Amino acid sequence: MKKYSVFAVAREAMRHHTGWTRAWRDAQPKKRYDVIIVGAGGHGLATAYYLGKNFGITNVAVLEKGWLGGGNTGRNTTIIRSNYLQDPSAAIYEKARSLYETMSQDLNYNVMFSPRGVIMLAQTEHEVRGYKRTAHANALQGVSTEFIGPDRVKQLVPIINIDGPRYPVLGGLWQARGGTARHDAVAWGYARACSDMGMDIIQKCEVTGVRQTGGKVTGVSTTRGDIDCDKLGIVVAGHSGQLANMAGFRLPIESVALQALVSEPVKPCMDVVVMANTVHGYMSQSDKGEMVIGGGTDGHNNYTQRGSFHHIEETVRALVETFPMISRLKMLRQWGGIVDVTGDRSPILSKTPVEGVFINGGWGTGGFKAIPGSGWGFAELMAKGHSPLTDAFGLERFAEGRFIDESVAAGVAH
Ligand SMILES: Cc1cc2nc3c(=O)[nH]c(=O)nc-3n(C[C@H](O)[C@H](O)[C@H](O)COP(=O)(O)OP(=O)(O)OC[C@H]3O[C@@H](n4cnc5c(N)ncnc54)[C@H](O)[C@@H]3O)c2cc1C
Repeated sequence: MKKYSVFAVAREAMRHHTGWTRAWRDAQPKKRYDVIIVGAGGHGLATAYYLGKNFGITNVAVLEKGWLGGGNTGRNTTIIRSNYLQDPSAAIYEKARSLYETMSQDLNYNVMFSPRGVIMLAQTEHEVRGYKRTAHANALQGVSTEFIGPDRVKQLVPIINIDGPRYPVLGGLWQARGGTARHDAVAWGYARACSDMGMDIIQKCEVTGVRQTGGKVTGVSTTRGDIDCDKLGIVVAGHSGQLANMAGFRLPIESVALQALVSEPVKPCMDVVVMANTVHGYMSQSDKGEMVIGGGTDGHNNYTQRGSFHHIEETVRALVETFPMISRLKMLRQWGGIVDVTGDRSPILSKTPVEGVFINGGWGTGGFKAIPGSGWGFAELMAKGHSPLTDAFGLERFAEGRFIDESVAAGVAH
């Protein structure tokens, strides 16, 4: 792999950029791999990367039915934070956030991590109590957050209307090292590093069946033929239920559409990320100047990558009352993704009833921020049989009633 650097850019500028090579190889499927990962989203690619980097397992294929990063990884609003309430969640999200800090250097790929700070607004007394409690829990977990008052909120976000009209801003949970990153770059950076380790990333290769003998996985059937493997990682977000069905077990997951929209670009006016969960909307400003706006999940299960139209109206209404200046902005684009939601709003990183099959899903509306931590822990689980980062997120918790309730920290009502 050619190292990207300021010298490489200068050298290529001298020869009219004719010397750049492809970031990753367009691989053809082999007959057999030690590990197959289904799904070339951020979580699948990060898992493959840490299998190679931390455990030396490089005979790995990542199979993707569409194009790399074309699922939720390339469709999200890129908010990164780790201000969760429960200890297992704080551990994995903070591991992820800390890995984001050095990801550009680790992958030699600029993922544009921007730790600009994230505020979750408290607009009811109940939210004030809830976020103060989270700030205390975070202090014990070693996660740096603080509860700030309305004056500080106004100072950080001058365009905000802290007086209502429906819900005044009473304060907020502030994480100064939260922020955003360029979502496609995260997928592309991992893909390039995986390809460099000799792994095969195979696009337009849909898994259509999971083959097994005597309760143990032997491989997968795909639109490009059968491929054998010793271990299989299912990392397909909104399609987790379909893949589990192919393997012969059921998951406590529902698939719903979640949508986002962006406005026309404007001059820089907001340099932090703001989440307003009571009125329901969240917003940040992209490097291009567009206001990036996140909406809510559909109230019914579906596999559309669009989302119901009434959510656009509800989301924009919520944001106009929080930021009156955006009422004059034109909205440019709207899109959706299929998110995988569990009952306790926490992910599943687990062995499954089929020996050799592992599942990583259920990240719902908030898995982008978790990508490196999830990949780190899931790779350890697949390589060694368990990981301190993933132990609490096993499938058995639903049978045992050991829920990790993060419905408030999820940030998006679902
Ligand atoms: C609108 C929106 C906004 C969001 N905002 C945020 C946010 O601000 N912050 C945050 O942390 N999270 C956010 N999320 C959630 C986040 O995007 C996801 O949790 C995360 O990207 C999931 O990554 P993944 O790798 O698991 O899934 P994906 O990126 O969806 O990758 C799964 C891949 O599996 C492939 N696949 C499916 N079935 C098969 C098959 N049979 N064979 C082969 N391949 C298959 C799919 O094509 C897909 O590419 C948002 C999501 C959406 C939709």
